[in-house]
Parts: sequence; C-alpha cells; structure tokens
Amino acid sequence: MHAALIAPNKYVQGRGVMAELGNQVQPLGDHALVMADRVVWGLVEQTVTDSLNQANIRQTLATFGGEASDREIDQIRLKGQEAGANIVIGIGGGKVSDSAKAVGAQMGTGWVIVPTIASTDAPTSALSVIYSDEGIFERYLFHPKNPDLVLVDTAVIARAPVRFLAAGIGDGLSTWVEARANLESRKPAMSGGLATRAAGAIAKLCWDTLFTYGESAVLAVEQQSVTLAVEAVVEANTLLSGIGFESCGLAAAHAIHNGLTVLHHQTHSLMHGEKVAFGTISQLALEGRPLSEINELIDLCQRIKLPTTLGDLNLGEASPEELRQVAEAACAEGETIHNMPFGVTPDMVLDALRAADAYGRAYRERGQSVFGMAQEVGGN
Ligand SMILES: [Zn+2]
Repeated sequence: MHAALIAPNKYVQGRGVMAELGNQVQPLGDHALVMADRVVWGLVEQTVTDSLNQANIRQTLATFGGEASDREIDQIRLKGQEAGANIVIGIGGGKVSDSAKAVGAQMGTGWVIVPTIASTDAPTSALSVIYSDEGIFERYLFHPKNPDLVLVDTAVIARAPVRFLAAGIGDGLSTWVEARANLESRKPAMSGGLATRAAGAIAKLCWDTLFTYGESAVLAVEQQSVTLAVEAVVEANTLLSGIGFESCGLAAAHAIHNGLTVLHHQTHSLMHGEKVAFGTISQLALEGRPLSEINELIDLCQRIKLPTTLGDLNLGEASPEELRQVAEAACAEGETIHNMPFGVTPDMVLDALRAADAYGRAYRERGQSVFGMAQEVGGN
C-alpha cells in the first residue's frame, strides 16, 4: 500500500483577507456561484461583492437553506448551471463548505471555501458529509480534488460566537487521536493511501497547538480579539486538522459522533465538534489510555465548555436501548471505527461511552469540590 497526502491547492489566512477574495478568485473563474445562508450573507455581502466586482467577477447568489443534503445540493447546482457560473464560492460554516464542494464537483468547476467560523476541519478537505434533510448523518461523498482555494479571514472568525471556535477545537483535538490509531493499524486514509510522515507530523502539531493556545484563543475571541493565539488555533482547527484527518484517517471518535446523530432529538442542537469531543474521550477510553492522559483532554474540554459527559450531550436520561443505538450506528459497516488497530463491537463502544461519561463526571465533581474548598478557605 502506498502513502499519499492531499491538501487544498492554496490556503490564505489573516485579518481582513476577505477583501482580497476577488484577486484570489480571479485566476479560477469569472462568474462565481456564491453560496451563503441569509445570516452570513448579511454579514459579508458588502465586502464580498465589492471585492468580486473590483476583480470583474460576475456573481450569482444562491441562498443556502441550512442542511448539507442531496436535495439542497441539487437545487443550488441547478441554479449555478442555469446561470452559467464557472467557479463556486461557499461562504459560511461546515455545511456550506460541504455543499459548495459537492456543487462544484457536480458542475465540473473549481470551488473556493471561505469559512466564516472555525468550527470544523471541513473547509480544506476533498470530501463532503451528506446529511438527510432532518440532519442525520447519511454518507461521505468523495470528490476528485481538494478546494482550489481556502480563504480564512480571522477578523470574521473572531466576531462569531466563541462556541464555534471551541467546537472547532473539539473537532481538531480528535485529529491526532484518530491519526495515531491509523498510524498503528496502517489502514488507508481518505487520501487513498497510508499516512505520510508529513501528515502525521501535521496531526500531532494540531494537537500540540490546541493544548498550547486553545484556552487563550477562546478567551481572546470572547472579546472578539484576533491574537497570535487565535491565528494559531484557527490554523489548527482548519488547515492542520483538515490535512491531518484527511491524510491520516478517521477512527472511533468520528464514528461515535456519527452514532450520536442517530439520537437527533437530543443531540441535534450540539455542534459537530462538540459531539466529536465526547467521541474523542470515548476513543481514549476504548483504547484503554491512562486516566492521566484522558484527564488532560477532559480538562481542556471543560475549560472551553466542550461536552465531557452524556448529560452535556442531553443524553443524561438516555435509556440503555438508546445508547445501544448510538453504539451500533458507530459500528455500522464502512464506519471509520473499523480503522482502529483492534476489532471494535457495539458492546465495546457502549462501555466506552459509559466510561467516558464517568471520567467526565468524576473530573468535574473533583474540580467542584476543590473549588468549594478554596471558597471555604477564602470565606474564613
Ligand atoms: Zn470532524
């Protein structure tokens, strides 16, 4: 089996780079199908249209309805084809990214991804996650290439609610944990080959960057500030995590995320990276990692308000049958849990979910008791 690494053709990141969109897109096409939802379009319309106009790029706007579903993708593709667009620009969150890639691939044009939040590592990859109209995970859709351009304006990212950045950290923290499992099992990644040393190093750098700068970036973005920590975390959430997962491979954490989407009434309000964070803790439990290592992850997650217990996922009252549904969906045929270096059954996943929940609760209770003691001392 050969090794392979895939990545976006160009990645541009910095404060205010949205104003350079036109110049960056100009070599790729002269009629853009611009996809964004109403809220995002309201925020970026002026900057985007000015920039594209200055570069003499015609624009057809397609309002994105909110779900990366086959129906939505078909509708937008039709609009782009009727207008004769020759480049697709997706502006917004992970579901717009995924839809823009699918639309571009189906139209046979290039595609540009402009994330306005750093909540997932979807922007750089050559795959789309397709959901039903109700938001239930359906399948991965693979495209012949990665985006032609990914453009990330950190000033825009820092103005979004901090929960998005934290969720992106949750997604990014899974990258090394899942890459490590694939490096051990030597299963091929989404790149079509085994992990290169470069991709492995990028995945590890993602982990290290998030532990070094994750909390400080969240604190800065709470103030809508762009600091070097924010730049580092946006790069980790987007580029490092994107290359890391795609060219090293996913494993249990994302399969458990996909399993959690089955209980959509309880978990649909949670973001991808929030569910992945709990999936990552569960993978560490499944792997039998030392509690000290698991607690390091739980500590960071709790500091930045990522879920670490079933209760945090609105599953505190979930029945054993419901949790079994999650475990069985996580082990479905073709799921990335089968990239683990050992065979995984639904029973093992069920126990890992319960163990992860217990670790998260124990860590929180201990933290609260220490805090309570400190207060008592302070009170005296
Ligand atoms: Zn992810």
